[in-house]
Amino acid sequence: MDATDKLKSSYDIVIAGGGPAGSSLAIRTAASGFSVLLVEQKKFPRDKLCGEFISPECLPHFDQLGVSDDIQAAGGTALTETVFYKRNGKGVAVRSEWFGGKGATALGLSRSAMDDVLLSRASAVGVTVLQEATVKKLLLEDRRIVGVAIADKARNVHEVGARLVVDATGRSRSVARLIGDKRAEPTSAQHVAFKTHLRNASIANGVCEIYVYQGGYGGCNRVENGLYDLCFIASSRDVKRLGSSAERVMREVVFSNDRAAAALRDAEVAKPWLAVPIERFGRGKLIPGDGLITVGDAAAFIDPFTGSGMLMALQSAKIAAVAITNSKLSSTLLARKYTREYSDAFDHRLKVCSMLRFAAFVPFLAESTISILAKSENLREKLARATRSTSTQNT
Ligand SMILES: Cc1cc2nc3c(=O)[nH]c(=O)nc-3n(C[C@H](O)[C@H](O)[C@H](O)COP(=O)(O)OP(=O)(O)OC[C@H]3O[C@@H](n4cnc5c(N)ncnc54)[C@H](O)[C@@H]3O)c2cc1C
Repeated sequence: MDATDKLKSSYDIVIAGGGPAGSSLAIRTAASGFSVLLVEQKKFPRDKLCGEFISPECLPHFDQLGVSDDIQAAGGTALTETVFYKRNGKGVAVRSEWFGGKGATALGLSRSAMDDVLLSRASAVGVTVLQEATVKKLLLEDRRIVGVAIADKARNVHEVGARLVVDATGRSRSVARLIGDKRAEPTSAQHVAFKTHLRNASIANGVCEIYVYQGGYGGCNRVENGLYDLCFIASSRDVKRLGSSAERVMREVVFSNDRAAAALRDAEVAKPWLAVPIERFGRGKLIPGDGLITVGDAAAFIDPFTGSGMLMALQSAKIAAVAITNSKLSSTLLARKYTREYSDAFDHRLKVCSMLRFAAFVPFLAESTISILAKSENLREKLARATRSTSTQNT
C-alpha cells in the first residue's frame, strides 16, 4: 500500500521534518493521545551534514522516547572528552561528564543511524509517517493556519487539516517561510560547512577533536563501523578561492591547524562529501503564525562547536510536547506556555554562545580563550556548562 493511502483528512498535529526535533515531538505527542502526521522530504536512512557528536544529556531523552536499545544496537562510540586544539597543535580538554554527570559519556553515531531509529519509533507508536513528501503550502482560514498541502514523490498534492502545524524543518525553516516570515528568508552565507566519513584517522578512541583555524573550525570523532565523522566550517571566501573543493578546503584550510594535519593527513575519504551554506545562527520566530510553532533548528540554531544542536532539538520538542498536552491545543494558551518555557530553557545559553561565536571565527581570540581555559579546569567546566543551561536539568 502506498503511504499516502493511509492519509486521513485531518490530524491533531502535522509535523514537517523528521530530524530529531520532529520525530521526538511526534513520539511524545502520539504517546499523549494526539493523532499525528509526520512529513519528511527525504527517504530514511539518509546521510546528514553534522558533527555526529551526541551530547551526554541526549541519552535520557532516548530512554524516555523508548529508543535506547536501538541506539545502542546501532554501534556508536562512547566519547569521554572533547579536545579543542590551537593552530600550533596545543589542546585543552573538556570532559563529557561535566555535561551528563559522573561517568557520563557522549556518543559518536551517524545521523543516518540515529535519525532512522527515531523515525522508525514514531511509526511504531502510531504516528503516520510520510517520507519523500514535502509540505508545500499552509491552508488558512481567517488568518489561522488550519492545515497543509503536501506534495508526495509522484508530485500529487494532498490537503490535510491540522489543529496545529509544527515547523521542524531545521535551519531552512521552510514552513515558516511559506507565510512570509522574513527572518526565515535565506541570506547570503558567510560560511560553508562540509562533512564526510573517514577511514584510518589517527584519533584516540573516546576523543572528539576540535580544530581552530582562520575563518572557521572543524571537528572529528569516531562513529560506528570504524569510521570517523569529519565536519568543518570554512569562510565562503576561502571556499570560493579553492574552487568549492571540499578536499582542497580540508588540506589547505583545516590542515593549517597542526593537530588536524597530523591526525587526518593519511586518512581516506570513505563517503561522498556533503556541503551546506551556514546563513545564520541564533533565534528565529518561535511562533510564526496562529496555529504554527517551530522546534529544533527551525526555532534556533546553536553554534556547532557546542555539540548541542541535537540536544536542543530533543529538549525543545519535549518542551513543546508538554505545552501542547497542557494547553489541549488551545492556541493562545499553547503560545503562552511554549514561549515562556522555551525562553527559560534557552535564552541564557544562546546569549553565551553568541558571545563565544566572535571568538570561534577569529583564531587569535579562539586561541586566547583556549589558553586562558587551559589554566583552570574549574573555569573550563563553568564555561562548558554555560553553553547548556541549569534551568533545563529536567529536560
Ligand atoms: C556544521 C554543523 C555541525 C554540527 N554538529 C553537531 C554535533 O556534532 N552535535 C550536535 O548535537 N549538533 C550538531 N549540529 C547541529 C545539528 O545538526 C542540528 O541542531 C540538528 O540536526 C537539529 O535537528 P532538527 O530536527 O531541528 O533539524 P534537522 O535535523 O535539520 O531535520 C530537519 C528535517 O526536515 C526535513 N525537511 C526540510 N524541509 C522540509 C519540508 N518542507 N517538508 C518536509 N520535510 C522537510 C529535512 O529533510 C530534515 O530531515 C551541527 C550543525 C552543523 C551545521
